[in-house]
Amino acid sequence: MKPNIATRVAEARKFLKRKSEAGFTIGLVPTMGFLHEGHLSLVRRARRENDTCVVSIFVNPLQFGPSEDFDAYPRDMDRDLDLLASEGVELVFSPGVKEVFSCDCSTIVSEKKLSGFLCGSARPGHFDGVCTIVLKLFNILRPDRAYFGEKDYQQLQVIRRMVRDLDMEVEVIGCPIVREEDGLALSSRNTYLSEAEREQALALSRALGEVRSVFADGERDCRSILAVVRKVVGSYPMVRLEYAEVCDAEDLSPVERVDRKVVVALAARVGRARLIDNTVLAP
Ligand code: AMP
Repeated sequence: MKPNIATRVAEARKFLKRKSEAGFTIGLVPTMGFLHEGHLSLVRRARRENDTCVVSIFVNPLQFGPSEDFDAYPRDMDRDLDLLASEGVELVFSPGVKEVFSCDCSTIVSEKKLSGFLCGSARPGHFDGVCTIVLKLFNILRPDRAYFGEKDYQQLQVIRRMVRDLDMEVEVIGCPIVREEDGLALSSRNTYLSEAEREQALALSRALGEVRSVFADGERDCRSILAVVRKVVGSYPMVRLEYAEVCDAEDLSPVERVDRKVVVALAARVGRARLIDNTVLAP
């Protein structure tokens, strides 16, 4: 069955208000569209755990820097709607930019600690944009549960922190990274890769595979772990590592030894794509 499509805030509110008044739970999957199996894994879980599933599709200008790929970001609403129809999604919320951000919008939400690490330094203001849109989606759609991928690990932790700090009544659920058979993490931005770049992009998942292997052999020193990453990535000439870090899995602060749960997070440029990937290690 085709999902209902709301492009207006008021329409989406009305649809979901009726659902929650009838006692139905609501699961939200926020996306920027151009959907792939990673997104669909979140949708399937949201469907399983809630009576009603709503997917938002909104390429959020606030989370793109001035020299980033907002205009070029891939979009294909018809294909997205077909995919969501076959997943049994009840509502798709796909507003235009003006519907969400009026021209004199002057309030932003800013998480001040976790947002500064990892992608935060390369993408100033990015997580303010993320927090602001996610808070707005929560206010508009009032979900009981919201589903985010661990692919964007920092985003997931920043949102968890925002929800905790602002006493928001929504359960944030992290879902595992979905990968291609050869290990590349699915991403809408993979579409930017040429055939040669697609091959080189395996550097990230292969480096993380090597990290898991030395960790399994007992390596706990983060400098040594990062040296492994640099060595693997260094053997892929088209890949420019932006950062490789080992951080506390919850507050994302840098760690020196793996003496607690950590995340090894990478960002790299391959051609015009900026790719991220990560793996969690627990001693
Ligand atoms: P995006 O459309 O890229 O903003 O992603 C929307 C949601 O899908 C975010 O919570 C992402 O973390 C999640 N997501 C994207 N790619 C993957 C993937 N390969 N595996 C799991 N979740 C993903």
